[in-house]
Amino acid sequence: AKKLGRNNFQFYTPAMNEESLERVRIESALRNALERNEFVLHYQPQLDLTSGQIVGMEALLRWQHPELGMVPPGRFIGIAEETGLIVQIGAWVLRTACAQNKAWQDAGLGRLRVAVNLSARQFGAADLIASLESVLADTRLDPECLEIELTESLFMSDVTPAVDLLHRMKSLGVNLSIDDFGTGYSSLSYLSRFPIDVLKIDRSFVADITHDANDAAIVTSIIALAHNLKLAVIAEGVETLEQLDYLRSHGCDEMQGYYFSKPLPAAEFEQLLVQRRAL
Ligand code: C2E
Ligand code: CA
Ligand code: CA
Ligand code: CA
Repeated sequence: AKKLGRNNFQFYTPAMNEESLERVRIESALRNALERNEFVLHYQPQLDLTSGQIVGMEALLRWQHPELGMVPPGRFIGIAEETGLIVQIGAWVLRTACAQNKAWQDAGLGRLRVAVNLSARQFGAADLIASLESVLADTRLDPECLEIELTESLFMSDVTPAVDLLHRMKSLGVNLSIDDFGTGYSSLSYLSRFPIDVLKIDRSFVADITHDANDAAIVTSIIALAHNLKLAVIAEGVETLEQLDYLRSHGCDEMQGYYFSKPLPAAEFEQLLVQRRAL
């Protein structure tokens, strides 16, 4: 896709298709979305496969625009990254997710862990550590109850600053996980050099786990790899009982997916916690 520089003129020709028009519309609407309070977080439960308990949740960003309607992350995260807007948006996500988790803990709903997605662009921002520190101080959330989800792409370039930054994040006490594990093309060597806590198996491997022997082999290998490195492992995109049973019987620690619940608005997630407490 073309990057539209700040000083470039944009000519709309008949050749410019619907999609690029929508892109331009999204980009300009995105600039005002934070101050207009158009973002919300949904929370998807993460379950311990041994106890069946909800042990955490992933915060997933939703954008409700008055005219564009509900814009899915796939339509705007990339644009937010290209324009750099993701740095501010991501800071809002981090603060909101931590404050929400602390509020649930204070309400006696359990000591859960909240997972927040961090884009590579935020990872490169100068004030990442300061921003993490101030969110933890302001919300008074125990850092152990925060997990930062990173993608493998972060580990491919400029390895030295990444190691340094991850150790600084780790020294704050937060958990670090690798999202979409297995889909990048980085070497595995980084796993021993970076202070990682969790591998998150990408849902593309989970989807056919019970029908495709190769996917099953990949998933059991990732579980073994994680455990040999003393890391926890979570599977995402679990949609069926068969997938859940397979993962549990092969020692996967946690799962997340539509089989148990789709991502929920905060009020609905809270209801779920209240109901499960009453069981
Ligand atoms: P992700 O981090 O891999 O998040 C998991 C995605 O899988 C979510 O899509 C979730 O709704 C979906 N999902 C969960 N369970 C299932 C399932 O059982 N089956 C299927 N087919 N899908 C499932 P969503 O919410 O549309 O988010 C898409 C992507 O947008 C995320 O992928 C993440 O890369 C990005 N994203 C979302 N929120 C944020 C954010 O706050 N910051 C950043 N940087 N990226 C975000
Ligand atoms: Ca994620
Ligand atoms: Ca993922
Ligand atoms: Ca993904």
